[in-house]
Amino acid sequence: MKFKFSAAVLCMTLLLAGCAGSKLKLLDWTELPKAQYTIPPFAKNLAPFKIALDPGHGGMSHLPGYKRGPTGKEESVMNLNVAFFLKEFLEQVGAKVTMTRVDDRFISLRERNEIASRAGCDFMISLHHNAADNSKTNYASVYYHLHPDYSPASMDLARQVYFGLVEALRLPQVANDGLLTDKLIYPDGFGLLRTSKIPAVLLESSFYSNPAEEKRLTKLSYNRREAYGIFLGLARWAAGGLPSAKLVQPVGIARDKKPEIVYEIADGITERGGRGARQLLTFAESAALKIDGKIVAAQMDMRNRKLRFRPDSALTNGPHLLQVEVQNLFKNHNLPRVDTLVIAAPATNIAFETPTQRLPGDGVAMMPIRLKLFDADQQPVWDGTTVHLQTNRGTMAPAAVQLKNSSAVVYYQVAAEIGPAEIIATADNHSDTLTIELAAPGAQRVLSGVVVDDSSKAKLSTATVMVDDSLNALLDANGGFFIENISPGPHKISAAAKGYASESRIITIEANRSAVVPVRLRANLAGILHNEPIILDAALGGNESGDIFNNAITAANANFALAMRLADTLRWTGANVVLVRENENGMPVPARIEKINQLAEGWYLKINYRRSDSDSLLVQSTIYPANRAGEQIAAAINAAFARLPNARAILKQNTAVPEVNLTNKTALEVIIKCRMPMLIARDLSALLEGIVNFKRAAGNEREE
Ligand SMILES: [Zn+2]
Repeated sequence: MKFKFSAAVLCMTLLLAGCAGSKLKLLDWTELPKAQYTIPPFAKNLAPFKIALDPGHGGMSHLPGYKRGPTGKEESVMNLNVAFFLKEFLEQVGAKVTMTRVDDRFISLRERNEIASRAGCDFMISLHHNAADNSKTNYASVYYHLHPDYSPASMDLARQVYFGLVEALRLPQVANDGLLTDKLIYPDGFGLLRTSKIPAVLLESSFYSNPAEEKRLTKLSYNRREAYGIFLGLARWAAGGLPSAKLVQPVGIARDKKPEIVYEIADGITERGGRGARQLLTFAESAALKIDGKIVAAQMDMRNRKLRFRPDSALTNGPHLLQVEVQNLFKNHNLPRVDTLVIAAPATNIAFETPTQRLPGDGVAMMPIRLKLFDADQQPVWDGTTVHLQTNRGTMAPAAVQLKNSSAVVYYQVAAEIGPAEIIATADNHSDTLTIELAAPGAQRVLSGVVVDDSSKAKLSTATVMVDDSLNALLDANGGFFIENISPGPHKISAAAKGYASESRIITIEANRSAVVPVRLRANLAGILHNEPIILDAALGGNESGDIFNNAITAANANFALAMRLADTLRWTGANVVLVRENENGMPVPARIEKINQLAEGWYLKINYRRSDSDSLLVQSTIYPANRAGEQIAAAINAAFARLPNARAILKQNTAVPEVNLTNKTALEVIIKCRMPMLIARDLSALLEGIVNFKRAAGNEREE
């Protein structure tokens, strides 16, 4: 596409210039005017802002072809240079700038967003340069996330910055649509924009794949020119003023379930004074209030600068999210802000659930009590409600508790007395009483206790507890168990939990006393893989049998056998494992990809045996190019295999494996080329060792 100055416009311009008696000389669009950097007075409006600048990439210099121009110049360097100059311009006018990186190092997308959040930035500009197969391509574009309504404030920034870039760089091409959705690149957009909690746009300022542009991008003077264009765009945006909406009512938690909600609206312009300062400079119809994501019919009171709403029907107890959007005269939107409105109608009814209402008064017996709290409409109360507990005989632990899902579990320990014990629960000035009968010791002996992780002491509410191999004890939300009556004498008590070594021991119950027994479980493999989400896949299957090994086993069956055994082992360590191909039948690749993409989390490992007629073992791991996590997992697995005798392991980075290329997970394929699969003795142990070492290294990295 070539940009041509319209002949008609040109003639008209010449005609007008002719009337003035001089001849208009037009520069060619791409001829860059002499660089003169002045700070326009309106740029002072940038002063109150904290701005995150995110120079894309970094830390990938070790990869030969990674984001480089025709002569090998790195995009990451161009991005960084532009960011430094832009920082300088912004700081000139008093804006606060946070850079996500200042040198050539790898910073994950999540970390980039965390850096911006920690610094309290108002918005983020991610700086990139583009590449295309066609070496002539060269234009500027600005990417936004998903669709324009996703973040209107981001669109305001995108619009201004786009024209700043176009006018500064004078590239040979101007895109028909300079603002582009990141859906054009990935179905769920750019990770950086997706995870950003503040308005964010991603600039692809020009194409370093164009040889002439690559050359220009290596010049600092050109980087500064680009930075100045972005700076002017941001200055124009800030000059338009930033409207805002502040929640002024209700203040604090609302006891009324239909509270009037009032926002104070500011336009970001009249605060500066001026002739229009007495009226609110927003579009009246542009102010909208959302409660929990749904627009409600709020009324704009332009005179008092207030947006008001009172719900017709009661809101449920608990937190509600409020959001106001408003547009000022310059069509700038307020920065998104979510306020939390807590509705907390007082408790009027406290219900007690107990396994029994009769306990031995032996001074030992302990019983869980589940509390449930309701308001006057018989609706569950807000979880922030505190319940205070007291008793006239024995002890309550804890003495005060906060609710979870409108309920809580507390423990009552009996006194060494007989007679009625009163347990009084109080919340929001309302009390209810539970009476427990304390009987003479001896007739009933309670066994209770709690299951904890031996090293962390964390309570294990998902454990199971058995007494004498039959009786399943009830576990409550705190990992506590309770058996109402147990006979005197020796009993075997056993406990188990996923990812823990089972534990059993003999306890002796005395004739006249209850028992409280703590149970500690030791984590398998020190808990390194607890809850690690891993997606395992066995290549081939069904008609696709793959290579046939000497003992007639097919690669498809060997893949499946290894995946199953690895899954069992990983589950024993406490990992959350999903097997993609669940049996020996075939599974088409698109179905695998769909299954993997639908999983909420996890990283993907595809196992693929190949036959080799050599005695040596060759392991080949393939990852998506420059996928950092994939590289770390593959490196750990390769290292584990490479330690075996007569073995070699290599890492490949390409897009040739569809399950690696087309899934939304960190993914790798491990090809094991050998004369014979050695499922347990060699391959299972190496894979497990690699996975454990990867997790150990990942853990160490986090501590730095
Ligand atoms: Zn880039």
